[in-house]
Amino acid sequence: MFETLDDRFAKCRGDRRPERLFDGCRWAEGPVYFPAHRSLVWSDIPNDRMLRWDEETGTVAPFRRPAGYTNGNTLDGQGRLVTCEHGGRRVTRTEHDGSITVIADRHQGRRLNSPNDVVVRSDGSIWFTDPSYGIDSDYEGHRAESEIGGCHVYRVDPVSGRVDLVAGDFEQPNGLAFSLDERFIYIADSERGHIRRFRVGDDGTLSAGDVFARCTKGVFDGIRLDAEGRVWAAAEDGVHCHDPDGTLIGKILFPETVSNLVFGGPKRNRLFVTATTSVYSVLLTVNGAPPHFDRGFAHGLDRSLDRGQGPTTT
Ligand code: MG
Repeated sequence: MFETLDDRFAKCRGDRRPERLFDGCRWAEGPVYFPAHRSLVWSDIPNDRMLRWDEETGTVAPFRRPAGYTNGNTLDGQGRLVTCEHGGRRVTRTEHDGSITVIADRHQGRRLNSPNDVVVRSDGSIWFTDPSYGIDSDYEGHRAESEIGGCHVYRVDPVSGRVDLVAGDFEQPNGLAFSLDERFIYIADSERGHIRRFRVGDDGTLSAGDVFARCTKGVFDGIRLDAEGRVWAAAEDGVHCHDPDGTLIGKILFPETVSNLVFGGPKRNRLFVTATTSVYSVLLTVNGAPPHFDRGFAHGLDRSLDRGQGPTTT
């Protein structure tokens, strides 16, 4: 189940076998772990539903159905669910009262294609990719022509809500993740089979963008970092682990094509993996990177919490 390609992988892998938690999906994607609820939520895109696994009981039940052909999910700084929807061709936030707020559905007046994956930076900005998979056919959304005419990466400003195009030279942008210090962002291009690494400017613009890693089996999809900056990426034969220098140091092999992953569990040492029909988990000897908002809080960015005034929306 583990394939070690470099000695540096030895301290990551442990010896525990992956467990299958659920196997009734058509194309599982977008896993997100809720520490407060001790549950995992993910998308089953062709079945137009979201599912939830309860860590305490091991049971799986629908979370939202229909769900708007959701894909990638994450949590924002207030623990709210942020979701990419193919059906509505938008990024939304599920508020604490259960209502849904549209974060982005257009750029310069034209509808997005089908947002795929999303991350939130500690400054509250929301970054997402917009490939065409959800409008290419009726299988994962609704077939349609692209209004934008390209597949780009966008940033939503935390103050104005403006949607800015930050990278326009991708074929099919997909998974994305910030470096631990947020000075870099990793973005997968599934069509080109690689992950690029960009420098993030103070104003949210991107520069550089060199290839960080090339996929050795299939294409890259979702990506997440561990607490030491390694990049764990979904690929055809499993999860590929890259050292921060880009070297592929090892893999966790799965019997189905992997789409995405997230670190969870109370200690963030349990890797949850969505893979075609199934969701798996495996306990590792490394921990997932702390959420960016936790780091922002540690740096005093959200001082309203320090003063006990409750969170503020920025
Ligand atoms: Mg994806």
